[in-house]
Amino acid sequence: MVMCMVKELFRLSIFSTSHDKIEIYDRREKKVVQVVISNRSAMCLGCSSDECIHAGYALGTEMPRE
Ligand SMILES: [Zn+2]
Repeated sequence: MVMCMVKELFRLSIFSTSHDKIEIYDRREKKVVQVVISNRSAMCLGCSSDECIHAGYALGTEMPRE
């Protein structure tokens, strides 16, 4: 389970970030996926989902700003 998670996360890397958007490069799909950050939640434009691996990755890597 844990190893599987690590393997899945390894396929992703940060492509670029801005104040409200993170672009993640997906090695498996060979494309950049945009994730919009708002109200501490993430919306993946590539999957039209807020609970895909990209959204989770974006939330996990976003630095909290107060
Ligand atoms: Zn996604």
